[in-house]
Amino acid sequence: MALRTILEFPDPRLRTRAQPVTEFDAALSELIEDLFETMYAAPGIGLAATQIDVHRRLVVIDISKDRTEPVVLINPEILMREGEASTEEGCLSVPGIFDDVKRAARIRVRAQDRSGATFERDYEDILAVCIQHEMDHLEGKLFGERIRKKLDKERKERRERPANAPAAAGAHRAY
Ligand code: ZN
Repeated sequence: MALRTILEFPDPRLRTRAQPVTEFDAALSELIEDLFETMYAAPGIGLAATQIDVHRRLVVIDISKDRTEPVVLINPEILMREGEASTEEGCLSVPGIFDDVKRAARIRVRAQDRSGATFERDYEDILAVCIQHEMDHLEGKLFGERIRKKLDKERKERRERPANAPAAAGAHRAY
């Protein structure tokens, strides 16, 4: 296992569209372990392979407090979206920025597990939000896309007033 470096906005590599995972081998298992280790260390509740500069369709998530509910989604697709939820999101690739994003409140996902077996599952609440956020990463999109102006402005302000830059809000969770 190894800690990987998380790419940060505005790194152009974050805009890469990920390719499907085709090999379910030892290298994939190692990548999954690295993703979890990097996500937990950040700390965050979700991480897409894109964020560590591996452009494969793979995300890991764990929204539990005690890190006991790891979720691995490989080649995920959203089959159904329902309802609408507005959640204040943060992103490990856009540190210190939090903003409300509207997404489907409930989703049905088809994905493969680490052995390559296909499954379908319904997700709701923060887990559904987090999956949609991570899947945006696989498309090369940042949650900040919707708030790019705000991001640019805040970065500018942080450059201008580094000593007064607000600390990342500890109560928020990033993915
Ligand atoms: Zn993110």
